[in-house]
Amino acid sequence: MRRVVDSFDLVNRLQGRVLAMAELVGPRVYSCCHCRNHVCLHDDIISKAFQGRNGRAFLFSHAMNISMGPKEDRQLMTGLHTVADIYCRDCREVLGWKYERAFEESQKYKEGKFIFEKAKIVKENCLSSIGEAAGSKCQKSSFTTEH
Ligand SMILES: [Zn+2]
Repeated sequence: MRRVVDSFDLVNRLQGRVLAMAELVGPRVYSCCHCRNHVCLHDDIISKAFQGRNGRAFLFSHAMNISMGPKEDRQLMTGLHTVADIYCRDCREVLGWKYERAFEESQKYKEGKFIFEKAKIVKENCLSSIGEAAGSKCQKSSFTTEH
């Protein structure tokens, strides 16, 4: 009985590893939903439990290829913050905002971090810059969706 449970557990763990490896194949980049400009990295996600203007939003430690709007004080659900909107540098789409300053002590960890609205970014799993093996896999999957 115990052995059966153990082997199920092993299979589950192996499947978990395979999934983790499959995820590592791609560079795990998030892109602007309009122009596919790369704006942030999956590895920089601090929290997925944020609320944006239009639904779910992610907190990132870094951002790239973005422009920032003017700083302004904004009353958010978690208190008063100084924030600046962030735009895609290519298409100027508003993607979220940057926390410049948090007034509440408990919110200080957000200073210098970026909010990206989930609806404004797309996760890229498939890029030409990755290895040949992974590349052919990607092509295959895009063919199956096209036909
Ligand atoms: Zn864009």
